[in-house]
Amino acid sequence: RAKSIDGPSVCFYDKSMDEGQRSRRALAVSLRQAVAKGELELYYQPQNDAATRQLVGFEALLRWNHPERGMVSPGEFIPIAEESGLICEIGEWVLREACREASTWAQPYRIAVNVAPLQLAQTNLPTIVHEALLNSGLGASRLELEITETGIIEDQTRALHVIRQLKSLGVRIAMDDYGTGYSSLATLKNFPFDKIKIDRSFVDGVNTDRQAAAIVRATIILGSSLDIPVLAEGVESEEHLAFLNAEGCHEVQGFYFGRPLAKKALDVMLAENAPKAEQLVIDLPEAI
Ligand code: C2E
Ligand code: MG
Ligand code: MG
Ligand code: MG
Repeated sequence: RAKSIDGPSVCFYDKSMDEGQRSRRALAVSLRQAVAKGELELYYQPQNDAATRQLVGFEALLRWNHPERGMVSPGEFIPIAEESGLICEIGEWVLREACREASTWAQPYRIAVNVAPLQLAQTNLPTIVHEALLNSGLGASRLELEITETGIIEDQTRALHVIRQLKSLGVRIAMDDYGTGYSSLATLKNFPFDKIKIDRSFVDGVNTDRQAAAIVRATIILGSSLDIPVLAEGVESEEHLAFLNAEGCHEVQGFYFGRPLAKKALDVMLAENAPKAEQLVIDLPEAI
């Protein structure tokens, strides 16, 4: 196993490492400096009400603009950040940046932020979240933290304690990638979730695959019975949306409504979405 990345940043050539290991090692070394060098960037993907199609919020998704490799996807570098423990520092940056960005929006859209298992295991997470809220001035109820089951199976008691503290701040907790973990039902029973996000691997098949359709339908009923709104991830078509609406799904997120947007593109979208002056005039009472 490679030495901790806290060691010297010189990377010795090691014949026992294969190509993949060497490349991950090199990525870990440069990821360490990525925050300080300003190479990390948040993209924002819209979340919409399923029935009205109205915009209700955004999920912040991390991107790494690597000086030589270009955009590195989180699928590649988040696991490296988790292995090396760097995810805590990066996650703290994500929280601050996402809250700061959301606090500049003219409309009170929600902002959803992914929280890694290791962050949840930190007892100071509530303090970090509290400070991000105070420094940005963002109302706590506008922040939603997305956690996965992996984050809570290891030490359930501690995770529950941290989640209760987070909830007492007024932030919302979403269960991300629902259905892909080991004990999704037990987790739903024991944890106070404010939202269930059905994993897109199920949503993808709703129009073609009987099993996928049944699982999505059952999850929507489950959420509704527990009074937990359900969001479907990975909605890519009108057909997906039609199925989800027929089943009473509450919210949707996916390429059909919008890809993750860089800050500049987001500003354009928010400006287009802002209530237009003419509409405001029409809404005025007639007797002036
Ligand atoms: P996730 O939290 O489940 O995020 C949803 C992923 O699905 C995003 O991938 C998004 O771009 C993608 N997606 C959304 N709609 C569609 C669609 O209609 N079709 C398809 N094919 N994909 C869609 P992304 O941005 O590559 O992120 C992948 C994962 O990386 C995230 O999954 C999350 O687990 C992790 N991640 C991203 N940003 C962060 C972060 O700031 N912190 C942590 N801890 N993890 C993050
Ligand atoms: Mg997520
Ligand atoms: Mg997800
Ligand atoms: Mg997912």
